[in-house]
Amino acid sequence: MFSWQGELLPGVRGAFTSVAAGNLAFHVGDDADAVRRHRESVRTALGSGPVQYMNQVHGDRVVVVERLTLGDDAPTADGLVSRGLPLAVMVADCVPILLAGTDDDGGPVIAAVHAGRPGMAAGVVPAAVRAMRGLGAHELQAWLGPSVCGRCYEVPAALQEEVGRIVPEAVSTTSWGTPALDIPSGVSAQLERDGVRIRYHGQCTMEDESLYSHRRAPGLGRFAGLIWREGQ
Ligand SMILES: [Zn+2]
Repeated sequence: MFSWQGELLPGVRGAFTSVAAGNLAFHVGDDADAVRRHRESVRTALGSGPVQYMNQVHGDRVVVVERLTLGDDAPTADGLVSRGLPLAVMVADCVPILLAGTDDDGGPVIAAVHAGRPGMAAGVVPAAVRAMRGLGAHELQAWLGPSVCGRCYEVPAALQEEVGRIVPEAVSTTSWGTPALDIPSGVSAQLERDGVRIRYHGQCTMEDESLYSHRRAPGLGRFAGLIWREGQ
């Protein structure tokens, strides 16, 4: 059910689901009851409380979650920040990023961020880091989960150039020699510039069928990255 799980900080856990957990997104045309069941099974397996998902739009908006809004009222954003309430990001080729730090009182500040090509270029990752630091977080660390890799994500040369002007580290070449983008590298560079420590848990979604990939198999579903403080 999980491609990776563990502890980011003492008392702060993170996990990435796999295809075995089922589709976790309402917007891919799946039966809504099935999605609810899948989300509930994941939550039960992790032992967390209710999880805040978001309505992701490839933008740079980051929302601080002080109270969960479940069902149809999920915030429209590409980054969620909390002081421990469980957060989720859904992906199928974009990069799921889980972030954790501590404030001056030793309490956790956590985030879940969705960064595909438009979100990375728009700066959603630095925006999430700013929001966390706004809550007093320091010593930030990030987990990068599975996404399409820089050898598989072919793009037109003009698009590569456009994104490369904003995030040069994202420029890459496919394994067959054409222009490509490496979103995990671009996101890593953004995090490094912000002084965030990184762990990369990134199989390639295009190459690994235990993960959903929109480019390999459109419409099948989304897997998720989840982060929460134990006991919440
Ligand atoms: Zn790949």
